[in-house]
Parts: sequence; C-alpha cells; structure tokens
Amino acid sequence: MFADITLPIPFDSFTYLVPSDMESRVMRGCRVVVSLGKNKIYTGVVLRTHDKAPEGVEIKPILEVLDEHPVVNEQQFAFWQWIANYYLCPLGDVMKAGLPGAMKPKDEKALKESSRKRKGKGAGDMEQEDTPSSNISLASSSLPLAPFSPAQQTAMNSIEEAFLTKNVTLLHGVTSSGKTEIYIHLIDKYLRQGKQVLYLLPEIALTTQITERLRRVFGDSMGVYHSKFTDAQRLDVYKRQASSLPYQLILGVRSSIFLPFQNLGLVIVDEEHEQSYKQQEPAPRYHARNAGIMLAHMFKAKTLLGTATPSFEVYHLAHKNRYGYVRLTQRFRDMQLPTIEVVDTKEAKRKKQMKGAFSPRLIEAMKEALERKEQIILFQNRRGFSSFIECKTCGWVPRCPHCDVTLTLHKKTSTLTCHYCGYTAHIPERCPACEENKFMDIGTGTEKIEEQIAQIFPEATTLRMDLDTTKTRGQYERIINDFSTHQADILIGTQMVTKGLDFDHVSVVGILDADTMLNLPDFRSYERTFQTLSQVAGRAGRNNTAGLVILQTRSADSDIIRQITQNDYWQMFYAQMTERQLFHYPPFRRLIYVYLRHKDDHLLEHLADEMAQRLRAVFGDRVLGPDRPPIARIQSLYIRKIMLKMELQASADKVRQTLIAIQQQMLSLPIAKNLNIYYDVDPL
Ligand code: ADP
Ligand code: ZN
Ligand code: ZN
Repeated sequence: MFADITLPIPFDSFTYLVPSDMESRVMRGCRVVVSLGKNKIYTGVVLRTHDKAPEGVEIKPILEVLDEHPVVNEQQFAFWQWIANYYLCPLGDVMKAGLPGAMKPKDEKALKESSRKRKGKGAGDMEQEDTPSSNISLASSSLPLAPFSPAQQTAMNSIEEAFLTKNVTLLHGVTSSGKTEIYIHLIDKYLRQGKQVLYLLPEIALTTQITERLRRVFGDSMGVYHSKFTDAQRLDVYKRQASSLPYQLILGVRSSIFLPFQNLGLVIVDEEHEQSYKQQEPAPRYHARNAGIMLAHMFKAKTLLGTATPSFEVYHLAHKNRYGYVRLTQRFRDMQLPTIEVVDTKEAKRKKQMKGAFSPRLIEAMKEALERKEQIILFQNRRGFSSFIECKTCGWVPRCPHCDVTLTLHKKTSTLTCHYCGYTAHIPERCPACEENKFMDIGTGTEKIEEQIAQIFPEATTLRMDLDTTKTRGQYERIINDFSTHQADILIGTQMVTKGLDFDHVSVVGILDADTMLNLPDFRSYERTFQTLSQVAGRAGRNNTAGLVILQTRSADSDIIRQITQNDYWQMFYAQMTERQLFHYPPFRRLIYVYLRHKDDHLLEHLADEMAQRLRAVFGDRVLGPDRPPIARIQSLYIRKIMLKMELQASADKVRQTLIAIQQQMLSLPIAKNLNIYYDVDPL
C-alpha cells in the first residue's frame, strides 16, 4: 500500500510506502511523520492511499502515524484544493497555512515532544476529543440584545430579504452607523437555528474592545482566533472546532477560514475593503474575503460583507445586482458625520505659514480641542523619523545593501532601517562618499510628528501607534486602552489608527498629508485614499462629540479630495470605474502577476523575457511586461513582474494549466536553476 502525502513545502504531494503494520491507521486526513531527502523530517497529511507504486524513484516508508482519526475533513480538503487552484500554488503551501503550527512539528525535538505529549495526553494530541470544560449553551445570549434603531431594524430586514435570493450581501453603512450591532443580531439568529457563524475581522481590528462586546452577548459559545495567539492557543481552537462540541461562533482573523467547520450558516466579513485580508507573503496569496465567500458557498451558507467604504470589486457586483445591497446612511442616534475641512498646504507653504507638518488651521483646531479637554488623532502614513537622510554636501543617500530602497531614519534608536528586510545600520558619522559630516533628513514620519508636537504643544500628552511601537499584541492593546481612558490627548499613527477603533472623546482628526497616498503609482491609489481617509475621518465625533477633520493636501482642488470631503463614494466610484474599464483593470479584468526571482539580475532579465514570450504565444496582448517592480530587489533577490489581464469569463482552469505548463518548461531550462517563479492572483 502507498500513500500520497502533502508536506508543508511548495509541492502538491509525495508518495510514501505504508508499512504493513500501519495499513489500518493510515487514513486520508490523518497526520504522519516522514523523511525527505537526506535528513529532513516533516509532518504531513495523508491525501489518499492506493496501490500504484511510483516508477523510477526511491520510495521511503512512513515513519509514524500521529492521529487515530482524520484531523482534516472532506470540506477542508475541498477548500484547500480550491485555494491551491485559484491562487496558483502547490497544495503543500495551503496545508502549511491551513494547519496551526503546533500540528506540524518538523524537527526531531518537536516531534519527540509531541509524541511524549501524545502519550501523556497533552497539547500536541489530536486523537482524543476533548470535552470542553466550559459550559456551552447553544444559543446562549448572556445579555439581552441592544433596543434596535428603526434604521437598523430596516437594514436587518433588508439583509434577511436579500438572503432569500442572494448568497452574498453588502452592508454599506457609514462609520458608526451601528453595523456591528446588526451583525450581533444576525449571529444570534443563526446560532438559535443551530448554525455556526464565522465573523472575520482584519487582524488589527480584533481588539479586546470588540471581543468583550461580543463575549457579553455570546459568552462561551464564541471562540477567538488570532494570529498573535500562541501555538497552543490556536491548537486548542482547532481541536475544539474538530470536536463534537465546536464553538458556534468564531471571531477571527483571515487565517480562521482554515478552521474545520461542521454546519456553517453565515460568514461575516467586517471591513471587507481592508487590504490586510489579502495574504501577501508567503503563498498561498489568498484573499480571505473571497475565500470566505467560497467557504460559505461550500456549506450553502450566506455571506455578509460590511464596510463604510466598499471595495470596487464588491460594490460593482452589488451594483450589478449579483450581491444584495443594504445601505445605512445615518450614524447611530443621528450623530453627525464629521465636517471635513481642506487646507491647501501648497498655499500655506508659499506664505511660509507651516510649522513643520502643521498648518495654522490645524494648530488652531487642535488648540481648541485641547482647551475643551477633547482628544485628537493625527494620521501620518509613514513610520520612522524621516524617509531617508542625504549628505548636504554631495547628495549621498544610504541605501539597503540587500534591497532596492533607501534606509529610513529612526531617531529614537539612532538607526537607519530597511522597511523591507529589517536591515539596520548606525547613522554614519561622516559621509562615506565625501567625508563631510552634515546630513539633512527628507520626508516626515510619525516620529518627526511626535517631535514637532512636543514643540508646538509642550503641555499635551501623546501616544504613537505604528509598527515600531506595537511589536507585541500587549503594546498595541495598551495604546488603545490608554487612549480610550484619556491618558493621552493626542494619538499619532500610521494607518493603524484608521482601523475600526471606537474612541468616545475624539473631536479632531488631522490628516497631515493626503498626497503621498494619492500619488502612489497604483491603479487603486484613489480608491485606497478614499477608503483610508474616510475611515480615519470616521474616528472623529463618534459619541456625542461633534467631529472635525482637517485634511492637509497640496491638491486641494482635485476631484478626489472633493469626493472625500463630501463623502461622495458614488462619484468617486463612477469616475474611477470609467478609467478602469478603459485600461482593462479590475473589476473588469482579472489580474494575475507572475513574479520571477533570481540572484543574478542579467540572467533574470533574460529568463523573464523568455517567459513573457512564451506567455504571449498563448495569451497574446493580455500579457504585459516583464517590468521591474518599484522595489526591484528584496533580500538580495532581483525581481521581475509579468502582468496578465484576463477576461472575467476566461476559464480559470485553462489559464492555470497553461501557466503551470509554461512554468515547468521554464524551470527545466538548464540556465533556470535557482529561478523562483510564483503568482499573485487578484493582487492588491
Ligand atoms: P459601526 O460598526 O457601524 O461603526 P457600531 O455598531 O460600532 O457601528 O455602533 C456605533 C456606536 O453606537 C457604538 O458605540 C454602539 O455601541 C452604539 N450602538 C449601535 N447600535 C446600538 C443600539 N441598537 N443600541 C445601543 N447602542 C447602539
Ligand atoms: Zn557626502
Ligand atoms: Zn533591505
């Protein structure tokens, strides 16, 4: 007997011999331990057993069977396969993402540990079905649900009506319109019918604020799944979901789509427009919203997508009546949406009125808020002190030795850091090019803003929230907690501060520079800017405090800025869609990026040309490139990108087969040793 085993490496599967004493135990969905190559040990999952001996290869035996019962069910296998096919990656990559780390011990030590624990019935164990210690009441409303507003009741009715004919519905409600409360009612309804619910949130929005809010209603029937949890915690949730008494509600981040479900009835994707739903690195480069819709489809379940600023992909389908569409235009308790005032920084600069990054109008608004003891959020979408430093004498700029980028100055730690690979260097005392010792810093990051505030408002207390100050989950929660208990007046942050946070006393939001986002060379930059700025503006005036947003920009009279200030999503959508259609971009076409990576730039150039040529022979002018991406070298590997713009009706299967065939041709070229090819489907 033989078994095809998926291992957590970029291949579909490998065939192993099943020793006769294991024959009754090697089942599809069970984990086994195998060796690969000379001395690698892996935990894999049995895909299938058969009696066809593979030809011409040495066949190794399975070393150990870890489970008595399958730990991956048929629905998960189908879902894994869909991900592998759609996102063009080997099944092994999906398995790696799909199982919590603790289920894939890979070195001898970890394996011994897991087998010791297994014998002692410990954490590595998937054989026994735990009876959860907590009490579960299936539809357990610990607290009565909140008294709906008429607008919420209407929205709820519309969602249920839409679900009669549509599998997916978009809830498009302005910030603070009470969407979360609607989710809660809907979840309650599904749980009462004995159905499971998966509630997806962007990682950054999964805070104790929201967990506690839901815990009060759903008590122990809710499980939380966060990527920052320990391996053991994630294993616990997985085990529980695979047991006969699973959580009825999972509140989780994108990877929770890989948990086992048994009777999923509803998937909620909150903040569906959020880019972080797309996994960028490593493969599988899946989009949790789209994969969540597919997961729901496999269970004949419904999907509710919620946001104040829909992605074009979703809004387009709602507009075409493929998805249901429900709108909430008023904030809860008829709170006013914040007023957005535009400040022309080009003008202010010309008149020499700017104090660092601050216009007189922003300073005035902040001063008034501070006098009224209200809080302020400042949004600057760049961390560090300055984007880079430059020698005043000769113009030399320090760059990362491994990546094609300048190093960012971090003044607090006196370092220069690469934001792509983490390379860190000291600030040089003298310029290595001309030996002079005067540098100037170019560009503004959150650290510089912090320093300028200390000068303009020496009395005010500040908190800074960016990647550097939130290395751990605890630090992140602490900043949120400190700010919501008013232990600081001003919160300065990158786009982290734009994500669904709910603070009661914020009356002023300052957007220091809208232009960096607008000017990114990306066909989505206007859509993104609209989303991000509307979201950050939505942090103002959420609870009985009138909100004011000061938006500083050099393009004060552009259409996009007007659309943002008037909260005119439709105009923005309409204008952008015309361009998208004209230039064959999503949602009118499906994009696939083909990436090639190699250490040798010249060789890569040649290989990328070759691959593009072969692709063109099949796909014609749907193929663009190869091009150097904006960051053309990361961690010492050079990168080329080939873009495919496929018609929506093109068969995904055929496209996949063609791509894989061409990839294999390329990799079999003798000069293509060490060439790495991968895909990004529906890239963001
Ligand atoms: P959104 O998710 O649209 O941003 P939320 O659901 O968080 O909005 O609601 C905004 C605020 O209004 C929250 O503080 C919430 O507690 C409150 N709220 C919303 N709906 C109700 C309700 N039906 N009863 C009481 N408070 C509500
Ligand atoms: Zn110099
Ligand atoms: Zn680097």
